[in-house]
Amino acid sequence: MRKKIVAGNWKMNNDLKATQLLIENLKGLTLASDVSVMVAPTFVNLTAALDTAATTPIEVIAQNMHFADSGAYTGEISADMLTAVGIKTVILGHSERRSYFGETDAILEKKTKQAIDKGLQVMFCFGEELADRKSGNHFNVVEHQLKNALFSLPETAWSQIILAYEPVWAIGTGETASAEQAQEMHHFIRKTIAAAFSESIAQEVSILYGGSVKPANAVEIFSKPDVDGGLIGGAALVATDFAAIVNAFN
Ligand code: PEP
Repeated sequence: MRKKIVAGNWKMNNDLKATQLLIENLKGLTLASDVSVMVAPTFVNLTAALDTAATTPIEVIAQNMHFADSGAYTGEISADMLTAVGIKTVILGHSERRSYFGETDAILEKKTKQAIDKGLQVMFCFGEELADRKSGNHFNVVEHQLKNALFSLPETAWSQIILAYEPVWAIGTGETASAEQAQEMHHFIRKTIAAAFSESIAQEVSILYGGSVKPANAVEIFSKPDVDGGLIGGAALVATDFAAIVNAFN
């Protein structure tokens, strides 16, 4: 079933104490019960975050993983390592992983397959750069990102996928896509998935918007019919802002 989801990507922020404190602060706030709330602390704090969030509806998720089962990949984390500590969802393909760590569509295809095979839910991120938008190539870029990384998956995998459309020009820049631009792209994404797989898969998959979502713009963005929630960076680091975004659905 298509779900409303708000996920906080904490990136390389928050040490152990700050991780526990932010979750404690969220526990003290009202969070809409029909929204799946997720937070993604850094790897080293996942266990503490899971403990702090235990018995709450807040799901702790991972920011990344490697595609191999195990082996000589210094500094990397496998799917089994994530599931062993109780992680059920992993973010893959964030634009910072693509641009700073060289993650290509081909690598992301391998990572996604591995995560799915290991029973994880994948929050798959993608989105065009500013130059693509300016040249009117944004639909084409997004279609290719989806096709290259996800279209070789079996239909059954889609029950484990959440999509997060994040135009790179809107991430951490304070520049947000308008609610209309988000809706237009999300509608295009659903059409693309319907054509490649089926209308029911396209209708069932949750598509989140990410890129400078704040309490002030979340209500309008989340009011659009094809926007099922948000992936939040900066505003997820402030408990009251994050809670306001969780509660921004009409
Ligand atoms: C992100 O990094 O996924 C993101 C959307 O960041 P911000 O909300 O800070 O733009």
